[in-house]
Amino acid sequence: MFSSQAGGASEEDKSIKFTGWAAVPGGNGILQKWSYHPRPLVADEIEIEITHCGICGSDIHFSTEGWGPITRPAIPGHEIVGVVVKRGEDAAHQIGDRVGVGCLVSCCRGSSVCDWCRKGEDQFCANKTVTFNAPYKDGRGGISEGGFADRMRVYSDYAFKIPEEISSAEAASFFCAGITTYTPLKRYKAGPNTRLGVIGIGGLGHIALQWAAAMGCREIVAISGRDNKKEEAFKLGATKFINTSDKEQIKEAVKSIDLCLCTNASRNNNWEEYLSMMAPLSQLVLLALPEEPITFVGSHLVSQDVAIVGSHLGSKGDIEEMLEFAAKHGIRPWIEKRPFEDCNEACKDVHAGKPRYRIVLEMDPSTSVSTSALS
Ligand SMILES: [Zn+2]
Ligand SMILES: [Zn+2]
Repeated sequence: MFSSQAGGASEEDKSIKFTGWAAVPGGNGILQKWSYHPRPLVADEIEIEITHCGICGSDIHFSTEGWGPITRPAIPGHEIVGVVVKRGEDAAHQIGDRVGVGCLVSCCRGSSVCDWCRKGEDQFCANKTVTFNAPYKDGRGGISEGGFADRMRVYSDYAFKIPEEISSAEAASFFCAGITTYTPLKRYKAGPNTRLGVIGIGGLGHIALQWAAAMGCREIVAISGRDNKKEEAFKLGATKFINTSDKEQIKEAVKSIDLCLCTNASRNNNWEEYLSMMAPLSQLVLLALPEEPITFVGSHLVSQDVAIVGSHLGSKGDIEEMLEFAAKHGIRPWIEKRPFEDCNEACKDVHAGKPRYRIVLEMDPSTSVSTSALS
């Protein structure tokens, strides 16, 4: 077992250890139990006892060193839900509140605030800190650790109260998969005039279909390379299904989509085919980092005024709005719960694309002091 000291921890906190499952250098993606000393709790922070954490593809990319070598043990996990067990005097939440934490844990703090934070688009802040394995830029030192752990400390403005209607386990997946799909639908005004496409019916896509149905999109087209999720796609809100391995279906769909979310990072993406389905003045929005450079001829792009854009998470305001929207419209991720102890097996299943549609790790209620908050 490794042990580490987060920079900036005070004398007082050296006795405190949080324990989780960390990716380690050269570990082939196998997570190992590891403990760290948290930073001292400051006035606008809370300490959360973690009850649930979803597993996202990014956690796997990171722990298998797909994004480059890991240099230190680091705890992944950024779809975090738990219960507030400690609070600083200025924290926005109370002891016992159920809260969730997503992909970011800090941005500009204090009096000097950047343009993006001022505009309420903190996801673009140059001083932001992502939830795991990132040095804090708040002057207090230390490196962020994620949610595959028993506890975490976080600024209270990056923890969001979970609406009563939503269970803790189901809430977890909203904090990455949910917000990643909600924000572009809002930004590009998905609604009754929209023929929406969703490429890839997985962790992100299955929530995107539900948002689109609740937003009243005129047509909701699930686009996949196989028919195996067809029936479920209709249950999730799709009104039409395109199997891209059948070229006839693509031909029939030429210029029929006004807004399309591409949730698929696969190297098998055929960008020419996707673009051919885009209507004039439409947007194809990339939500997953493509594994290979994107190549296409571009004639359809120019002749039909089609835009290819990206979308990165959402702001703090977007997250609050999303949770309210999900509660109001009864939108819930379809999840499979697994014990935290089985995280390696669960990560393997995510890597193999098995979940229908998101795996959420759950802490053993017998080890928790806040069992009432478990779903
Ligand atoms: Zn994620
Ligand atoms: Zn900022």
